Amino acid sequence: LETGWQIGVRSQFPLLMGNPGVAYLDSAATSQKPQAVLDAVMAYLTSENANAARGTYPWANRTTARIEAARDQVRRFLFAGDKSSVHFVDGTTAGLRTVALDWLVSYLSDGDEIIVPFADHSANLVPWLDAVELLRRQGVRIVVRPMPYDEAHDYDVARLPIGPRTRFIAATHVHHVYGNDMNVHRLRAAAGPDIPICLDAAQSFGHMPISAEALDVDFIVFSGHKAMALPGIGAVWAANKRGPVFKPAGWSGSPNTAGIVSLAAAMDWLTSVGLSRISAYLVALGGRLTAGLSALRSYEVLGCQNSLTAGSTVQQRHGIVTFRHHDIGSNDLGFILASDNLLVRADSHCQGTQGEKTSSVRVSLHVYNTPDEVDRLLSALATLD
Ligand code: PMP
Repeated sequence: LETGWQIGVRSQFPLLMGNPGVAYLDSAATSQKPQAVLDAVMAYLTSENANAARGTYPWANRTTARIEAARDQVRRFLFAGDKSSVHFVDGTTAGLRTVALDWLVSYLSDGDEIIVPFADHSANLVPWLDAVELLRRQGVRIVVRPMPYDEAHDYDVARLPIGPRTRFIAATHVHHVYGNDMNVHRLRAAAGPDIPICLDAAQSFGHMPISAEALDVDFIVFSGHKAMALPGIGAVWAANKRGPVFKPAGWSGSPNTAGIVSLAAAMDWLTSVGLSRISAYLVALGGRLTAGLSALRSYEVLGCQNSLTAGSTVQQRHGIVTFRHHDIGSNDLGFILASDNLLVRADSHCQGTQGEKTSSVRVSLHVYNTPDEVDRLLSALATLD
């Protein structure tokens, strides 16, 4: 693992630098923030803070311009064209609800079918079911078909339940428990050109290059806080392939200006480090952890098991590795690790109705994590083997 460049990256995170003994291994929950993002927010708030589109004076005009520039930046970051729109929202949960309640409910008609994931994050299930329930109360009946999975918890696109009335598919880009890339590039081929696909990119945005064009999806939804920006900001990108999908909201509410500034700074920062480099690094670091775990007898790694055999599918884990100890409960294990300053997540991870029934320990990495931290975690786990 080539890590010379990475030391310089890590040194830009004040919370990590201030706590050298702490290994923060919970980035799928939220990421730490680089100095550049903190500086951008502080500079904005202390130089020209104003509400947007109230423009009779320069601060307000500049704030409005920043927001429009950030929208363009999201498009470029997602390799998307001009015929697309970006709606700032609180985060992925809010964004998926926006797609469900502001667009899907008016897109569907009686007898239509939708395909939704029952074993991904519940933020990517509940809004679709809520939309269906809302329509049911209006006498509109929608058939909900579960997304099929294979043994490695990946989408089984060969069994995609497509019919003449299928009108919508919700999918996840990188799974928040298993860490694998969910085969979304094959969904479009299986679905044909006409069915809108909405992608939950909470765990891929800022972790790898995402090309809206290559994935050929209609919506991409993400949170800023998992990708170096502040909490409370995220976006829905919409392709507008079939015409504009959202009514223009105008400027009827006050946007999260500081959040948008943080997101713009985070995208600049991520681009300067390089998304391909970040992605390769997370795969390598995740691979180091899975390889180390496979040498211990007391642990079971969840998800794509074949990634344990070195070589072929190791690249599938994007810095997220989830496991259980055969005898020690996951919460206990979480507390034991925390007492060693190894900060992991232990629970059932908000998984949908067909997710893991018992809790597990999730380690999730970002570009500031080091091979050393992974090795420290592995030695702590080895003492319990
Ligand atoms: N989808 C996935 C795949 C996630 O991992 C998460 C966050 N754990 C969410 C949605 C929800 O994101 P947020 O809490 O930022 O709304």
